This record gives sequence, structure tokens and C-alpha cells, in this order.
Amino acid sequence: MQNSKTYVSTRNSADRVSASEGIVAGLSKDGGLYVPEFIDDIHFDLDALKDLPYAALAEEILGAFLGDFTPQQVRDCVAQAYTTGAFDAPEPVGMSRAEDSAILELWHGPTAAFKDMALTILPHLMTTASKNIGEDKTIVILTATSGDTGKAALEGFKDVENTKIIVFYPKDGVSAVQEAQMVSTAGKNTAVVSVDGNFDDTQNGVKAIFSDRELGARLEDAGIALSSANSINIGRLLPQIVYYYYSYFRLAEAGRVNLGEPVHFVVPSGNFGDILAGYYAKKTGLPVGKLVCASNQNNVLTDFFRTGVYDKNRPFYKTISPSMDILISSNLERLLYDKTGRDGAKIQELMDELKETGRYCLDPALFEDFLAGWADEAAVQQTIRDVYEKDGLLIDPHTAVAETVRRDLADELDDAPVIVLSTANPYKFSDSVYTALYGSLPEGKNPFETQKILSEKTGTPIPAPLRELDKKARLHDTTCKKTEMAAAVETLLREDAADV
Ligand SMILES: *Cc1c(COP(=O)(O)O)cnc(C)c1O
Repeated sequence: MQNSKTYVSTRNSADRVSASEGIVAGLSKDGGLYVPEFIDDIHFDLDALKDLPYAALAEEILGAFLGDFTPQQVRDCVAQAYTTGAFDAPEPVGMSRAEDSAILELWHGPTAAFKDMALTILPHLMTTASKNIGEDKTIVILTATSGDTGKAALEGFKDVENTKIIVFYPKDGVSAVQEAQMVSTAGKNTAVVSVDGNFDDTQNGVKAIFSDRELGARLEDAGIALSSANSINIGRLLPQIVYYYYSYFRLAEAGRVNLGEPVHFVVPSGNFGDILAGYYAKKTGLPVGKLVCASNQNNVLTDFFRTGVYDKNRPFYKTISPSMDILISSNLERLLYDKTGRDGAKIQELMDELKETGRYCLDPALFEDFLAGWADEAAVQQTIRDVYEKDGLLIDPHTAVAETVRRDLADELDDAPVIVLSTANPYKFSDSVYTALYGSLPEGKNPFETQKILSEKTGTPIPAPLRELDKKARLHDTTCKKTEMAAAVETLLREDAADV
């Protein structure tokens, strides 16, 4: 490696790679996640960054992490993601206000969910990284989605040279709007497959494909390298650090916090990628008070932060915030690594224990940067109603989980301003929002008609990417069992070869 900015696998301290190698690989060969070894050496100067527009700020922050990218490469990637009109406002994120909290709107991108923040840039990072390491194989992106990643990744990678993308989603685990978004994706290099199982099954299936060495060898012979667009890819995680800084600076600009004083962030969490980016922001100098991990009824993370016991042996609930219906939060592994002595052998042990017994136990005192809480379905609906009635703001169920937890923990958060991350446009989950506001769905209407009625009743616009989805052709119709995902990949790639 030519520079000292190495990433190391959470499960094997001998597996050390450059940023480019880590982004192209996605997951390390031993199943671990790459983490920046050098993170303690980064300390951003708040004064120097505070007035920068989003793209310039992203350039500074990503530049510090992408050691083997040239400054020009970083600039180009950032420009292609954030300044080409893919977002519906001059700056990619917006801020609004409900009751006492600032709401950070992360859904102004091409698919109306926060995954766009990273997935508009990841394809560019990946093709650049691929050039940097002289990779000449076709990169095939395999993605498991609880609904939002899938469409954002499909849009990001659609027709990107030397890449193909295959998205797996749990058949009954995504909303009608999310499904319609995914299966209507055009592009010569895209495939969408529904899986007979829940999100954890789907994610485990993808992880199993990555660690299947024989399959990997066969694909390699066919000129294919697998990679991931899930938040296990470090190239997905790093761009998410930027909006923590950006939103902090907007509060400072508005005089709501003095530069250098802390703010709390409340993050609706599932796979723990978004909030982990907040932790990396804190580690690199952002004054963060508490990072509040907000969960829905699948509250495995709440229990973990409160007791130190991570136990996935529990019922799995399908909630109105489906992107957070997760019992195995992959990115937590990166936090464990950082908090338990950065010892790959120790993490391997914990993850083996999780696999074998479904649980592990650590000292909760290790995690005092965090607070945690969860919201049940009735409380989430109540918050959607309350925020609409009092602030005139329509929020989606994921955002409402976070706002509910903020209200529940208000006493512990009253010493600093609070930023609540808003992760989806309400029209992405319009059935649930409608029901929360009006008690039940309009009779005899499909989800797309409900969207229109919601828009008329509340006087709020349906964002462009979610309009007219019912009129779009269904271009993908593949289904598979959870045990047959690897076979589906091989079939799709073979069919593809026959096409060309
Ligand atoms: C993915 C997602 C989340 C959870 O983010 P993680 O990084 O997986 O914790 C929350 N809300 C929405 C709308 C999402 O799409």
C-alpha cells in the first residue's frame, strides 16, 4: 500500500487494505467489515468547514478518508453525486423544525429516502476505486434491501459502465410504493429478485454468497468480482458523515448552538449504518452530545445499549417503519471493534457466538456515547398526527420513531439542541401516514390513489420520483427461495451473458 490510510477488517488484523481496495471488495474475505485504522488521526477544524456548501464539505471530509484517491478524483465523485441536479433542492439536504427539535431532511434525492445520500456517490467511488487498483473485472453489486437501499442502489448503478447490480428484497417486507419503485427500474445492467423470507434472511443470504469461496472462484473465472452497496461497504458509510457536520453548522449559523458546543442527534436505526456515521463524525471532531439510537418494536438495539446483552432470539415484527425491521444490525460490529480494544480475534469470537447462540453480552458502560429508546406502533402514529397538527409537518413513520424517542428521552436531552434525522419522504409510506392521520385508509383505493388523496387533503406535494409509479411497467419479476439466492445470482449472470 502506498499510503498510511489503511482500513482493517474487524475480524482479522492482518487483513489491511487501501480505501480503493475496501470499496471494491465491500466485505472482507473473513466476513469482517473494513474500518479506518487511522480515524483517531483525523480532526476537522470546525471554523474552516463551517461555511462550506454541501459538496465542498463532502470533498474535505471524504478526502481525509480516501487516502489513495487524488483530490481531483474526490472532487469529481462529489460533483457527480451532489451538483448534477439529482436532488430536488440546491443543497442535497434540508432542515425544518418540529416542536423543540431540528429535523434534518435526508430525502431530497432521486428515490426520496436517505439512502440516496450515499448511493448517489457510491457508484462513482466504486468505478474510481476500481481504476485505482487496476481491477478489470465486471463488478457485480449484490444488495439485500429492506426497501430503500434497493431502489437507491439501482438508480445509482443503473447503466454505470463495467458494473451490474442485483437487488434482493423480502417479498412481503417492503411497501407497495417501494416495490413499484424497484421493479420499474430500467437499465441494461439491473436485476431485482424477491425472496421468500424476511430482511434478515435476505441479508444472510447475500452474506453467504460473499463468503462462498467456490462460487467466488467460478465468478472470477467468468470475469466477475462481487461487491456490495449495503452499508457494510465503507464507501456507503463515509458519505453519511458529511450531513452530521452540515446540519451542525446550520444550527450554528442560526445561532442555536455556539460553535464547539454539543448537539444531540436522534437517529432512526436499523442496520446501524446511519448512526455509526454519526459516531465517526464525533470521533473526528464534531461536538456531539449523545447519539440516540431509536428503534421500532424490533428493539434489539435498545436492549443492547441499556443492558449490554444483544439477543436476537425474539419475535420479528413487521411494522409501519419496515426499513428498520431488523434483528441483526451489521454495522454494530464496527462499533464493537472500536469499543472493545480493536481486537479482530475478539470480534470473531463475538460474531461466532451470535451465529451459534443468537446472543452475546458486553459491558454497557462501554457505550456511553449512546442513548437508546424504542417506539411502539401506536406511539408512532400518534407522533405523526401530533407533528402534523402542531407543526403542519408531514413526517414518515421512520422519522416518527425518532421523534417519539426524542420526546420520551427529553429529560436526558435537555442540555443541548437536538437534531432528529428524517430518513424518508412521507409519501414513500403514504398508506401508513394516511392511516395515522385519518384513522383508516380511504375505501377501495390503491396505495397510489391514497397518495393523491393525502396530497390533496394536506396540501403537500408528492415528490417527483414517487409520482405516477402505478403507470410504470413492471420490468422485473424474478422470485426465489431464501436458500436459492446463490443459484439465482448464477442464473441471472448466465442469462445476461447469453443476451450480449
Ligand atoms: C435504511 C433506513 C433506516 C435505517 O438506517 P440504518 O443505517 O440501516 O440504521 C431508517 N429509515 C429509513 C427510511 C431507511 O431507509
